[in-house]
Amino acid sequence: MSNAPDTVARLLADAAARIGGDSPRLDAELLLEAVLDRNPTWFRTWPEHEVAPTDIARFNTLVERRMTGHPVAHLLGHQGFWSLTLEVSDRTLIPRPDTECLVEAALDLPLPEQARVLDLGTGTGAIALALASEKPDWSVQATDAVDDAVALARRNAERLGLPVQVSRSHWFRDLASARFDLIVSNPPYIAERDHHLDQGDVRFEPASALVAGADGLDDIREIAATAPDWLRPGGWLLVEHGFDQGPAVRDLFMAAGFSKVETGRDYGSNDRYTLGRIEKGENDADG
Ligand code: GLN
Repeated sequence: MSNAPDTVARLLADAAARIGGDSPRLDAELLLEAVLDRNPTWFRTWPEHEVAPTDIARFNTLVERRMTGHPVAHLLGHQGFWSLTLEVSDRTLIPRPDTECLVEAALDLPLPEQARVLDLGTGTGAIALALASEKPDWSVQATDAVDDAVALARRNAERLGLPVQVSRSHWFRDLASARFDLIVSNPPYIAERDHHLDQGDVRFEPASALVAGADGLDDIREIAATAPDWLRPGGWLLVEHGFDQGPAVRDLFMAAGFSKVETGRDYGSNDRYTLGRIEKGENDADG
């Protein structure tokens, strides 16, 4: 070790070298920002600031946990999604930037001014809360099968002051009968034996939020087959899925009677979500 002072710049450089992986510098900055309770601008302005020994000790503890693979979001206890900061936990999925593409797709749909919307398997509440934050006139409901996720999504809704109703239900099974203009979901969609489950953040996330049977499609199969009974005429279903699942998910949507079935891409240009509409029948009243 050299005798150079422990400045912000030096601590970050050392930590980034130890952390490795995809985004070591950003990870180190996020952890030090949390320890010092400072924002990124302060970091850029004061690289020569000397950090106190107690803060260095706290920082090093976080860096060591990051080195063993713990997701940054778990170490910080929160994750940004859309314009919101969401509390996270190890009982449900950490919101991903690519899921923001579903939020954009939902906001682009031709929906009524006062749409009734359901987010299935909401986890932190990410999709439901992002939609509620953009559309104060929508009535947004969310479900999750995991009690801890229901409690977490409720806490996020309350802290953000967003009127999202969260209840416990395994997909539609425990839901009081209702009809929606939009049903949206980021369900589990990874296949049981997929090697991605041994890499990166997913190692620290629960299988209940990630894995869906031998081909990863068990949950989307159930959602697509059942959603028509829960949609108003003209209503839409929008689900996230794996980069290679677009054709299979479009088939499931079409088999369930959806039209206007389309797959959209994420920020990395991978197929990431599919949507479809239940057409109005000849006898359905408008609206
Ligand atoms: N997109 C996530 C991943 O592959 C999985 C999310 C999910 O299963 N819903 O890391």
